[in-house]
Amino acid sequence: MTLTNRREPGACSARLYSFLSIGCLASVVSAQDALTVGGVTARRGEKASGYIEVKDGVDPGTRIPVSVVNGARPGPVLALIAGTHGYEYTSIVALPRVLARLEPARMTGSVILVHMVNPTTFFGRRVYYGADNKNQNRVYPGKPDGTLSERIADAITREVIGPATHLADLHCGDGNESLRPYSYWLISGNPTVDEATKQMALAFGLDHIVVDRGRPKDPAASAYTSNTAILRGKPALTAESGGMGLTDEASVAAQEAGALSLVAQLGIMEAPSLRVSRPLWIDRSEVLTAPVAGVWRPAVEKMQSVAAGTLLGRIHDPFGAVLAEVRAPFAGEMLYIVATPPVSKGEPLGFVGQVSETEPRP
Ligand SMILES: [Zn+2]
Repeated sequence: MTLTNRREPGACSARLYSFLSIGCLASVVSAQDALTVGGVTARRGEKASGYIEVKDGVDPGTRIPVSVVNGARPGPVLALIAGTHGYEYTSIVALPRVLARLEPARMTGSVILVHMVNPTTFFGRRVYYGADNKNQNRVYPGKPDGTLSERIADAITREVIGPATHLADLHCGDGNESLRPYSYWLISGNPTVDEATKQMALAFGLDHIVVDRGRPKDPAASAYTSNTAILRGKPALTAESGGMGLTDEASVAAQEAGALSLVAQLGIMEAPSLRVSRPLWIDRSEVLTAPVAGVWRPAVEKMQSVAAGTLLGRIHDPFGAVLAEVRAPFAGEMLYIVATPPVSKGEPLGFVGQVSETEPRP
């Protein structure tokens, strides 16, 4: 399949080329510093957009839209990932805005923007699962001969996480999840990476930060996008802003501004910093899951404070009889609550987090 590879010269090229001989020299040097992601190559000082091809396998393949903004000078390589879940639209809408604001001539380092990890879940309006019934954010590092979600994960691991030095996986509540904004600080046990990841979480600008110590530690079974980067020694953040299939400006703007604040934090390009000075660390949290399939009727809203034992909602059978009541296991805040009726056994219903009085240690 033909690849589109739009390449836009950065403003710096024009400045360089005003000194013709230096311009020729620069183009020789820049060829060595080209950054290639899938079918997209950007030389130093250039932006390029195109696709990572995921070939047909046991099921049909896809093309992942990606942009590469290669700074005029070498430095960190930040990967910004949108649309890991295809019904989570805020990052998908935000990344073209980030792309427009990145100026390669002013950049020391590079940014890789993955606009939509799994296009088939986006165009299919799928919540949680792809057509292969797999959650894209549970199949990393992927398999080259697996089903589509696994082949996509394999492509992202090789083509994006491979060249990146830092990563931000941008999520929101899925199509059924009413969510307040927060970030995850994933603790891996590697002190250097954990400190850098914490700094990324602070830089992104969301003041609620969930401390997550429970991710897999085996790089061959990393499951999650951010965890895949972290277990390869690359600091990585997961951020959540928005939900319910909406693209409200506040949620989209938080994704855009957070990404640019990260770019600034890493010294890649000057941009407004949103660094959080007084974070609310959430060091105890629990995703509550459905004990039975049914019709879910939530009794609380996102951001609501709950006590231990507060009724969060009931699951009914199709005739209206109560099958189960779900209550808060401890006092905290609702980080998200599933706000639409269908639930299957084992699926999330809500996420309770308890703010820590003290700054957590890894
Ligand atoms: Zn997600």
